[in-house]
This record gives sequence, structure tokens and C-alpha cells, in this order.
Amino acid sequence: MSDIASRLHEIKERMAEAAARAGRRAEEVELLAVSKTFPPEAVEAAAAAGQRLFGESRVQECLTKIPALSGRLSWHFIGHLQSNKIRKILPLCPVIHSVDSTALALDMERIAEEEGLRPEIYLQVNVASDGRKFGFTAQSVRREMEPLLQLRRVQVAGLMTIPPLVADPELSRPHFAALRELRDRLAAETGVPLTGLSMGMSGDYTVSIEEGATIVRVGSLLFGSR
Ligand SMILES: *Cc1c(COP(=O)(O)O)cnc(C)c1O
Repeated sequence: MSDIASRLHEIKERMAEAAARAGRRAEEVELLAVSKTFPPEAVEAAAAAGQRLFGESRVQECLTKIPALSGRLSWHFIGHLQSNKIRKILPLCPVIHSVDSTALALDMERIAEEEGLRPEIYLQVNVASDGRKFGFTAQSVRREMEPLLQLRRVQVAGLMTIPPLVADPELSRPHFAALRELRDRLAAETGVPLTGLSMGMSGDYTVSIEEGATIVRVGSLLFGSR
């Protein structure tokens, strides 16, 4: 087995154990393999071991890497996206985890209509309120998401967060719990299920699964340090 295959196997095992601890089924949580900065060969090694879902965060890298790889793989975009790059990214990445403003989602709707696409989006929420530049705040997201719930093309799949980087994964737990509670409240208030919770990275994905993550974004633990 390649290193990537054995690490993939181990991550999947830990994901299943974390789900079981929370009384959830392993199938309720997807692994998004974050391949940014890694060459197509690394993606191919993971694909050969059964991984189908990959994440990228840089537009330029998507444009060169994704077309070079097998069409059987699925790609999600997880980085900050500028409106003038939407048209290039949507045909490659039908799921965007990092929608950080209402304006971006509205631009996406217009372009999806023109291109005949039906993107899925996660709204990036800054639950830790740590002064990060991008993302909705827990206070503003209800009001700002309102116009997005009526869109015909763009579907709001759920919420995403990136808590501050910390050494102890337990310190991320309150932020993951806060995102889940926010989702529960918004779903109850709007009647839109917002099923998806994109949270957890290499250092804290097991904690995020215990707190309800439906998709974890794992890069360095699978592919190596960047
Ligand atoms: C790079 C990145 C990840 C993966 O980070 P690792 O710590 O390498 O697992 C997850 N989410 C986002 C938004 C990223 O940019």
C-alpha cells in the first residue's frame, strides 16, 4: 500500500470511530481530501485507494490540476472566491464551501443561470468572531442569507467554518458546537434544512464529527505537510 493509501485508510477508520462515539453512522460523514499544493500524482494515489472527493482552495491551481485528472473525481472549492473567477470555477467545482458574502452568492446565481449549472454552496460563518476578513457573522447570517433561500439555481447546502488554528483540538469543539447550534436555529426559523456542516481539518476532524460535521476537509494528514 502507498503511504497515501494507508493514511486514507487510517483517517476513514478514525472518522468511523468518531461517528460511532456520537451515535452517528459512518456514512453520514464525507471526507473531502484537500489536495491544494500537491501534484496530480498525489490525487491519483488517493483515487486509486478509493477516494473520489477532493478539495482545492486556489483558482489557478484548479484550472491546471482538475482538467488533467480523471473525470470520475468530484471537486469542491474551499478557498476565498472573487466574483470575477466564478465562471471559471463553477464548471470544475459544483460545490463551493467558502461563500462569504450575499453578493458572491447572487453573482453565482446569475452565472449559474447563464451556464446552465446548479451549484451547491455552504455559507462560511465566522463563529469564533476572531476578526477574520472573510465570512458571515453568527449575528448577521440570518438576515444576509434570506435572499439566498429563494434562488433557483444555487442551493444552500449548509454552513461552513474555519476556527482559529490551535494545538489542542478540544479548543475547536465550542466553535463546532456553535456552528451546529446556529444551523439548528436557522433551519427552524427558515424552514430550510441546511443539512450540511462543513467543519474539521487535519488537527480536529474527529472532534468536528462528534459535534455533527457532515463533511470534513482533511489535507496535510493525508497528503503530507505543505
Ligand atoms: C487547507 C485547508 C484545509 C485543510 O487543512 P489541513 O490542516 O491541511 O487538513 C481545510 N479547509 C480549508 C478551507 C483549507 O484552506
